[in-house]
Amino acid sequence: MSANLKTFGRTVNEDIVYDLLANLAKENPKRPGLLETPARVVKAWEFWTQGYAMNAADILKTFEDGAEGVDEMVVVKDIPIYSKCEHHLADIFGTITIGYIPNGKIVGLSKLSRLADMHGRRLQVQERIVNGVANDLMEHLQPKGVGVVMRARHMCMESRGLCQQGHHTITSALRGVIKDEARPRDEFLAFAR
Ligand code: ZN
Repeated sequence: MSANLKTFGRTVNEDIVYDLLANLAKENPKRPGLLETPARVVKAWEFWTQGYAMNAADILKTFEDGAEGVDEMVVVKDIPIYSKCEHHLADIFGTITIGYIPNGKIVGLSKLSRLADMHGRRLQVQERIVNGVANDLMEHLQPKGVGVVMRARHMCMESRGLCQQGHHTITSALRGVIKDEARPRDEFLAFAR
């Protein structure tokens, strides 16, 4: 594809990236290495923001079969999570540990990672990710309790020297008996450590 064809064939979103390269990065968007960048960036951002098109009700289709008598805590530990901070559009990445104590409804364990993905693939602050995951589980599973702990690195802070490299920000959201009762809370936090 020639440079001109590319120049005239850009979509609105590709134009925005083209302008960002030219105006913000003070680059030459017509040099060979950057010719395909607008199209690539648009595709990548469509992926990074696809959480807006997902909803928790679809992800958390529960099943009651097999759930009878399940009243022990279910924990999925250290699920990788990738997001973008809403203040700088910079990367947030780390792990999230999700636990709940069923009350007659359970979900497939992979659904917990999909729920974390849904919240990650939006513009975020870390507190909203953990609270969003916890609230969705409370609403759709009505469990006895929920615990969510996220450890993440924020490139907007690290890459600008505002905090030590490799520094992890830890946020948590606890609900129900995992918040209110010492034993389940200690059990969850021991898993999450
Ligand atoms: Zn930021």
